Amino acid sequence: MTSNTTRTSLKLSSLFALAALSLTPGCSLSSVGVKPSPLGEASSTERVIEAVRQPAGVVRFERVEAADWAVDRAGLINLDHPRAEGLEEGLEPIVIPFYVIEHPAHGRFLIDSGVAASFRDPETAPVSGLVASEMNMDRLVVRQDTRTWLADAGPVKGVFLTHLHLDHIMGLPDVPLDVPVYTGPGETSATSFINLFVRGVTDDLVHRDRVLYEWDFAPDPQRRFEGVVDVFGDGSVFALHTPGHTPGHTSYLVRTAEGAHLVVGDASHTEWGWTRCVEPGQFSSDIPESVVSLRRLRGLADASPAVTVHLGHQHHDAGGDHQDCPAP
Ligand SMILES: [Zn+2]
Repeated sequence: MTSNTTRTSLKLSSLFALAALSLTPGCSLSSVGVKPSPLGEASSTERVIEAVRQPAGVVRFERVEAADWAVDRAGLINLDHPRAEGLEEGLEPIVIPFYVIEHPAHGRFLIDSGVAASFRDPETAPVSGLVASEMNMDRLVVRQDTRTWLADAGPVKGVFLTHLHLDHIMGLPDVPLDVPVYTGPGETSATSFINLFVRGVTDDLVHRDRVLYEWDFAPDPQRRFEGVVDVFGDGSVFALHTPGHTPGHTSYLVRTAEGAHLVVGDASHTEWGWTRCVEPGQFSSDIPESVVSLRRLRGLADASPAVTVHLGHQHHDAGGDHQDCPAP
């Protein structure tokens, strides 16, 4: 990773730091309604590992890069970690991906939502003012907007979110309101000082008339993850509760004919952080918890070399060096 940008990270990172210091109790992230998900059944890490070992899955999987962007490295990587010594603050180039899964019986779904067409023009972008400035929205370059993608590919049956941060729901304005959207538990109700700034935008992007369906995670019998849901009940797609970046952060494992894909979301944003087992930084609500989730995901991936890993905001080079990542 290059670290030649000397610009001091005073933007979102400073707001998060202020949030950590503030005595203000904060407000919830969103006022959008939530219901338990009608989709999915409680499963286990043991079932996930069994499924990964089976030779072929039935789901088609595709990764789409919606936009290029740059955000503060201190938000993406915990620069206080001993392994991060020498890594400087500054802007880190990233992408905003979304994923397409097509199940032969249940249809087409998205993981995360990409970027809405309205973000192509700052005049029409649904994020403006202070939040746009803090988010470096002037550096967002949309490559594939969700409206155009849906028009070309056809409708989807649902959207599975990794979490409710703005850069993962920026495509929802292009997703019809009758398409169910699924998320981990507690995403809307988590309180934070930062939510004073982003709650209105979050509600706008999700839409106040939309209901979010929360995965019904039961404790994982093996205690390898906080909870595991078998999304379609056939071992083809699993939702893994991986809190820390946000309370309900969810990763997904998808089995295709060519092998399994592990979408870790912002449990690890960057290639640097994943390969060195260094957790995300100031953008996370609970860094110690994010250490546990990162180690659990690395443990699953390290034990299953055939699994293709997809990081939150950068491409993963499976052939690169990986430093050790002890079990939590
Ligand atoms: Zn993100």
